[in-house]
Amino acid sequence: MSAPMLGVYGVSYRYGERQVLDEVSFELEEGEIHSLFGPNGSGKSTLLKIIAGVIALDAPGSSGQIRHRGTDLLALTPLERARVVAYVGGDLRADFPVTALEAVLLGRICHSGGMFQQFSAQDRQVAREAMERCLCWGLRDRELATLSGGERQLVAVARALAQGSRLLLLDEALSRMDLNHQAQMGAVLKALASEGRAIILVSHDVNLASEWAASGLLLKNGRRLGAGPIRELLTRETIQKLYPGAELVICPHPVSGAPKIFFS
Ligand code: ADP
Repeated sequence: MSAPMLGVYGVSYRYGERQVLDEVSFELEEGEIHSLFGPNGSGKSTLLKIIAGVIALDAPGSSGQIRHRGTDLLALTPLERARVVAYVGGDLRADFPVTALEAVLLGRICHSGGMFQQFSAQDRQVAREAMERCLCWGLRDRELATLSGGERQLVAVARALAQGSRLLLLDEALSRMDLNHQAQMGAVLKALASEGRAIILVSHDVNLASEWAASGLLLKNGRRLGAGPIRELLTRETIQKLYPGAELVICPHPVSGAPKIFFS
């Protein structure tokens, strides 16, 4: 059997004295959309940033392995790693004026050989296709800073697609999109997965995540509380463990059957 697309093994992390991840492990296969669930501060963002190599696992008290098809993802150079994994946060900002198209083209740096190389016609074509797919080609000449939060999120996902990475880490990356765009991006994510990418979603909107992800992991205080197919994972019992301060009911979606959570 071949090694999984992503293997996260025994990841622990400390910010100073505070342990925020404690021996977290899971595996992800290509074609999967996986969601991390947990209350604020449970370590979801930190875990995604570790997988992406944004946070190094070298702080005291930190340990674990991140493997891509069996190879050590964290041992790759940043450019090599960017060809494998793309991290998309909740907001895309640039320190200098760029158009939306230029922001997406920056995702091609890992293919064009570095910051100071010219982008090729192929890079431009890939960027265009990514923007068309993410419904933001019409924004290409707008300055990034002038776009709305939801528009910038479309551009950020397009940049990750242009990057060509097989593994997409979406950290509250759709939170500012309107319902039309969330629905359309949900369809795009499912299509990307069916084409062989793997996606990890972090969203406070549990109902949105449960619609698109087939599997998930529950995190609380940096510890894994459970993992598995969404329909088995999101139960009244597990939701109560995650959010004990809220009176919640859980019911299947009338059409899709995916578990949905409501205030009672
Ligand atoms: P989540 O994404 O689940 O809300 P985070 O991974 O952002 O959780 O944060 C986990 C914990 O780490 C929180 O207690 C948070 O306050 C803490 N934390 C996050 N970033 C830093 C940082 N740069 N320095 C110190 N503590 C941090």
